[in-house]
Amino acid sequence: MERTNTTYDYFNRPLRDLRISVTDKCNFRCTYCMPAEIFGPNYPFLKRDELLTYEEIVRLTNIFVQSLGVQKIRITGGEPLMRKDLTELISKINQIDGVKDIAMTTNGSLLPLHAKLLKDAGLKRVSISLDSLNDEVFGKINGRGVTVKTVMKGIDAAAEAGLEVKINMVVKRGMNDQEIIPMAKYFREKGYILRFIEFMDVGNTNKWNLKDVYPKKQILQDIQQEMPIEEIDPNYPGEVATRYRYVGTKTEIGVISSVTDAFCSTCNRARLSASGTIYTCLFASKGYDLRNLIRSKQSDLEVAEHLQKIWHGRKDQYSDERSDSTMTRNKIEMSHIGG
Ligand code: SAM
Ligand code: SF4
Ligand code: SF4
Repeated sequence: MERTNTTYDYFNRPLRDLRISVTDKCNFRCTYCMPAEIFGPNYPFLKRDELLTYEEIVRLTNIFVQSLGVQKIRITGGEPLMRKDLTELISKINQIDGVKDIAMTTNGSLLPLHAKLLKDAGLKRVSISLDSLNDEVFGKINGRGVTVKTVMKGIDAAAEAGLEVKINMVVKRGMNDQEIIPMAKYFREKGYILRFIEFMDVGNTNKWNLKDVYPKKQILQDIQQEMPIEEIDPNYPGEVATRYRYVGTKTEIGVISSVTDAFCSTCNRARLSASGTIYTCLFASKGYDLRNLIRSKQSDLEVAEHLQKIWHGRKDQYSDERSDSTMTRNKIEMSHIGG
């Protein structure tokens, strides 16, 4: 049933999906996200009192769900499992009436320690990032020499715990486009949904260039040549990945093509950074501070009204409008905003 609290933006897009970044720290240094030369030992990561506490995150989530119509929550980072006692947060969010789905995006490395507890706390799904099956390639991409096996152990732990597992692979020309077919074959065999993500111009530190984008069309062509696929309908309006199925099987792949085939017209997502700033677009150059707002004496009703005003005024459609001039503007880093 449609809830009556749905909030629409300037282009009539509802708010349904809240992505919560719980930390800006990470144990990887993926070249397309947190290049090691910039995110080095002296990088000014957020201090403890700059982070929203779990109580504050839960309070805001509750307002988003009750007063703005959010139904789905995704926990992200940085690496979300770097934040202590994350299961506590999941469990509290799970108790909020109206939350239909809680998912997490993770690099998988810490899942063997946490998967079972996360599942017991109410987490339903994990998207695990893995960009190659080749240790040398993967070690270079993640900037820390982490092995493929480390992530595979995380994938196995999540599946054993009963979490629904999807795999995210960022594809960048010259970095890992040769890995598309091996990855597709491997995860087809395993029966996991593999989602290919076009290299995006998030933030200002990853030296993004249009020439490095390996486009959706090419990804699909490569796979089609080896294994026939057919397009299938989205699961729900606003789904970010276009879906395909290997012909004659139930196994799917998805492509997230923010650069060459944008999907802003159905974008129903807001992003809450670890420091409590809300962003209405992944490519935003400015957000709205909620940390000071909730640390003042504002009531839930006042905070809700403030958030409704922000969403009503939302005109973001960055990927639809992407051009040389928009690309050079100052944007928030992926590790801050959460992906
Ligand atoms: N650390 C977790 C992880 O890697 O899954 C969660 C945070 S990460 C910022 C969220 C997702 O964004 C990951 O799937 C990652 O591969 C993707 N990502 C990061 N930078 C990207 C970029 N420049 N283009 C496309 N996807 C990117
Ligand atoms: Fe860390 Fe995820 Fe960014 Fe890689 S993509 S550096 S794992 S936050
Ligand atoms: Fe949504 Fe912004 Fe991405 Fe468009 S560019 S789909 S508005 S997050």
